[in-house]
Amino acid sequence: MNNSYELNQRVAVVTGASSGIGTEIARTLARSGARVALLSRRTDRLDDLAAKIIADGGQALAVAADVAGDLGPAVEAVHAAYGRVDLVINNAGVMLANPFPAGRSDEWTRMIDTNLTGLLNVTRAFTADLVEAGAEGTADLVNISSVGAHLIFPNYAVYDATKAAVTHLSANLRSEFGPLGVRVTNLEPGLVESELADHIDNPEVAAHLQNWRTEVPPLAAADVADVVAFITSRPKQVNLGHLTVLPTVQAA
Ligand code: NDP
Repeated sequence: MNNSYELNQRVAVVTGASSGIGTEIARTLARSGARVALLSRRTDRLDDLAAKIIADGGQALAVAADVAGDLGPAVEAVHAAYGRVDLVINNAGVMLANPFPAGRSDEWTRMIDTNLTGLLNVTRAFTADLVEAGAEGTADLVNISSVGAHLIFPNYAVYDATKAAVTHLSANLRSEFGPLGVRVTNLEPGLVESELADHIDNPEVAAHLQNWRTEVPPLAAADVADVVAFITSRPKQVNLGHLTVLPTVQAA
């Protein structure tokens, strides 16, 4: 998938750009003309991705950032390189899964800190930019939630709860940002090929997911990136507020 869209003059921040969906979103936005700041913790990967994007004629900047931590230096680096940001993709996330009775509060904390608090941190860090950009032109906040926000999966209670929070938060944010000229999109993917499942440390839970992925071949990360670039390249007055993107054979 090598589609490109009209995103010239846009300045994007993509969190979780070091793998999976985030990498492909960054590549697609850059191919479409946006200058793209790549945020995550694994800077070796971000450096490689930035080099590839630049070699392909795009513009990208690797920025080390833990979304759950202090984002001040990252914001400064982005502003110094590209100025005001008008497109924020909250994509960074972790999915850890275990039976609830295992009481894995370490996993719960990590997921809440990354998937929810991290998303809030990043949004807050760039709110002034988005509001200013929205007053003059096009501005986008895209939150990557999950179909898990609505579905019931044993062993995924806390992951699904963080995604339900993201989906609800997005709808509420839209009610505040929309009138300010900032579009908000909540995007809920189904199964997507990535490293997301690699962090599950329970062999039975991991095997169950692997079986499902055999029955339902996942989307490629580039498929989701294509949707994100389409959403953000619509005319300013068009806000695709809430979307699911599923493999055709995935029932729900
Ligand atoms: P990956 O595991 O491949 O990518 C996750 C990304 O998040 C990595 O780049 C990782 O970078 C980053 N990340 C994790 N923790 C932090 C942190 N504390 N600070 C900054 N970055 C962080 O998974 P996906 O690409 O699949 O996941 C992307 C998003 O899509 C997630 O929000 C996920 O919940 C969502 N999603 C995925 C689906 C799927 O089937 N794959 C389905 C539905 C939703 P690093 O480790 O370098 O920091």
